[in-house]
Amino acid sequence: MKPKIVVIGSANMDMIVRTDHIPQRGETVLGGKFIQSRGGKGANQATAAARLGADVTFVTRLGTDQFGQDMFKAYKEEGINTEYIVWDEETPTGVALIVIDSAGEDIICVAPGANENLPTADIARAEEAIKFADCVLLQLETPMKTVEYAVKLASKHHVRVILNPAPMTSLSTELLEMVHVLTPNETEASALVKNYVANPRDLPLVVMQKFNIKNVVVTMGKEGAAICCDKFPSPWIVPGFQIDAVDTTGAGDAFNGGLVVALARGEKIEDAVRYANAVGALATARIGAQSSLPTLSEVEALLENNPIPK
Ligand code: ADP
Repeated sequence: MKPKIVVIGSANMDMIVRTDHIPQRGETVLGGKFIQSRGGKGANQATAAARLGADVTFVTRLGTDQFGQDMFKAYKEEGINTEYIVWDEETPTGVALIVIDSAGEDIICVAPGANENLPTADIARAEEAIKFADCVLLQLETPMKTVEYAVKLASKHHVRVILNPAPMTSLSTELLEMVHVLTPNETEASALVKNYVANPRDLPLVVMQKFNIKNVVVTMGKEGAAICCDKFPSPWIVPGFQIDAVDTTGAGDAFNGGLVVALARGEKIEDAVRYANAVGALATARIGAQSSLPTLSEVEALLENNPIPK
C-alpha cells in the first residue's frame, strides 16, 4: 500500500532572473535569462513526496489567476490529490521574486498572496484526509494559527506530525511538544535556541532538550543531517551523498519530502534520514525547486550505488 501523506503549506510561483550582480537600492541592472518555476515550500514538499510514489493530499490556497490555474494543473499531473485545495476569489496566488548573481547568492522577496489567507476552516475541511494519513507534513509559510490548528488536529487523531520550521519564527512549546519530528536546517536550529551552542554538532541535542521534542533532525547541507532522539541521545550524523551540486534551491524541501515518505512507510529514523539525504542531494543536481525534484528510480539508483559501508 502507498504511504498516505497530507502536506499543508504554501504554493508560490517563483520568478527568477540570473544576473552578474544583485542591484543596489535604486539601481537597474540588465539581467540574463528569466525563469518561471513552481515553488513554495508546501508545494515543493508535496511534489517531492508524490514523485517518490506516495499518496499525497495537498492542502493550500491558490488565487484564481493564471499562476494558480497552471500550478493546480501541474499538481494534478504529479498525481497529487487536489480535493482540499481552495480557490481564493479575492487574493492572487503567492509569488516569489528572486534575483541570483553569478556567485549563486540571491535576494528573494515573497508576496504571500493567498498563502496568507489559509484559514483553520480549510484544515477542518481536510479532517478526513488528516485522520487517515500516516504522516502530516507542515512548514511555516502559512499563518501560525493555522499551523497550530493543523498540528492539534493531527495529534487528536494520533497522526505523526513532521514540522519543517522554515522560514523560522518563534514557536510555542505547546506546539513543539506535539511534533513527532522537527527538521530545521543549521541556521533555523541555532535561531530556535537563540544562537548559543558552543559546538554546532550539539545543535539537535540542545533543541531537543530545550523544547522536549521527540525527534530532531538538523540538516547540514552536503554534510547530510544529524538526528537526536531517545535512540540517539548523542547527535548521530547520517552523512550526505557526494554529488555535483549546481543549485541548492529546494534541497531542504526535497529532504523533507523524502523523510516523510520513508517515515510513513514505517522506516527507522536513521534509514529515513539516509533516504532523505539521497532525495536532497539529487535535488541539487538540477536548477529550480519543483523542476529539480528526483524520481523514485533516481533515488533508488543513488542508494544502490552508495551502499552503507560495513
Ligand atoms: P536548506 O535547503 O533548508 O538550507 P540544507 O542546505 O541543509 O537545507 O539541505 C538539505 C539537505 O539536502 C541536506 O541535509 C542534504 O541531505 C541535502 N543537500 C543539500 N546540499 C547538498 C550538497 N551540496 N550535496 C549533497 N547533498 C546536499
